Amino acid sequence: MNSRRKFLQKVGLSAVALQLASVKTWANGNAAPHDVYDGPVLRVAIMGLGGYGTRVAGAMQYCTKAKLVGAISGTPKKLTNWQDSFAIPAKNCYNYQTFDEVKNNPDIDAIYITTPNALHHDQALRIAKAGKHVICEKPMALNAKQGQEMVDACNKAGVKLLVGYRMHFEPKTLEVIRMRKAGDFGKIRFFQGLCGFNIGDPKQWRLNKELAGGGSLMDIGIYAINGARYMVGEDPIWVTAQETKTDPIRFKEGVDETIQFQFGFPSGAVASCLSTYTMNNLDKFFLDGDRGWAEMLPSTGYGPIKGRTHKGELTQPVTTHQTVQMDEFSEIILNGKQPIVPVDGNEAVRDLKIIDAIYLAVKTGKKVELKLV
Ligand code: NAD
Repeated sequence: MNSRRKFLQKVGLSAVALQLASVKTWANGNAAPHDVYDGPVLRVAIMGLGGYGTRVAGAMQYCTKAKLVGAISGTPKKLTNWQDSFAIPAKNCYNYQTFDEVKNNPDIDAIYITTPNALHHDQALRIAKAGKHVICEKPMALNAKQGQEMVDACNKAGVKLLVGYRMHFEPKTLEVIRMRKAGDFGKIRFFQGLCGFNIGDPKQWRLNKELAGGGSLMDIGIYAINGARYMVGEDPIWVTAQETKTDPIRFKEGVDETIQFQFGFPSGAVASCLSTYTMNNLDKFFLDGDRGWAEMLPSTGYGPIKGRTHKGELTQPVTTHQTVQMDEFSEIILNGKQPIVPVDGNEAVRDLKIIDAIYLAVKTGKKVELKLV
C-alpha cells in the first residue's frame, strides 16, 4: 500500500478534505487528488517555509507521486503550523542546526531547499552528506564554482540533485519545444526574453547582495537565460551585456536593477534579453525561425501561460506548475525518468556559467566567450 493511502487511512477522509480545501487556492483547483496510483512515492521535506516553500507545499497536496512529509525552519511556530496544515509528523521537523540528523530518518527521501539564494550551496552540501536527494530552487547557487561543488558533492554522496525549473514541464512550453524539434519554425534565427517586475520592500533579502548574490538577473533574468536555451535548443557561445541603474538607493552596489544581454549560438541564431526589477508587464518570450514563430505571453509566471504560434493559439492544458514538477521529480529520482529538458545540477551550472559571464560582460564592457561543457 502506498504512503498516500496509509496517510488517508490514518487521518480519515474528512480531515483530508478539510486540509485540501484549505490549500486549494495554492493549486488553483486544477487537479483533483486521486488515489489510484500505487507506485513509489517520493517523500519530501521542505527547507525554508517562506513564500515559495508554502506555494510548493500547497501544490504538493495534489501530487500523486510525491508527498510532503517534513519541514525545516528556524521558526518553531512555523513548524507547528505546518504540522497542523499539512499533517506533518513532529519527528520529521528540524531546524537549521539539527537537520543533519535527517540522515537517521528513513521516512524522508529528499529535501527541497527554498531558502534565499546564498544559503543553497552549504545547505545542499549538508543534505548530500546526510544521504538525501537534493531539490534546490533557482538560482541553484551564487556562481558556477559553487554550483559545480554542489554537483560534485551529490555525485560523491550518490544522491540526485534537481533544480526547480518548473517551466520544463509546462505543456505549452513543451509544445513549442516539440514544434521547434519537428522543424515547424524552420531554422531558428532569433529569441527574445523579457523578464521583470517592479520589486517592492527595499529591506527584503532579494535586494541584499549577501543573501541574493546579485539582483534581478539572479532572480528573474535567469528565466530568460534558461528559456533562451530551451527555446532555441542550443547553448550560447558568447554574451554581451549592459547594465542600467535608475535607483542606486534601492539597488545598492552589486545588486543589479536592469541588465540587457545578448547571446550568440553556434547555429548563428542570436538572442536579446532584458532582466529588470523596475518594470512591470515583462514576462514574454518570442522565438523566430525562417518558417514560423512562437510567442509566449505570459511565458514563465505561475500561470496560466498563454502562447500562440504562426499556426494559431496554443491550447495545451493549464497546470499547476509545482504539482506537475514534483510528480515528475519523483519519476526522475525514483524511476530514472529522463525529462525532455534537463532539470539536474549540470543544467543549473550552465545557467550559472552564463550568469557569471553576463556580470563579467557588464563589468568589462566586452563580449565574453562561453564554453558551457
Ligand atoms: P521568502 O523570503 O518568502 O522565503 C525564504 C525563507 O527562508 C523564509 O521562510 C525565511 O525565514 C527562510 N530563511 C532561512 N534562513 C534565512 C536567512 N538567513 N535569511 C533570510 N531568510 C531565511 O523567499 P522565497 O520567495 O520563498 O524564495 C526562496 C527561494 O525560492 C529563492 O531561491 C527564490 O529564488 C526561489 N523562488 C523560486 C520561484 C520559482 O518560481 N521557481 C519563485 C519564488 C522563489
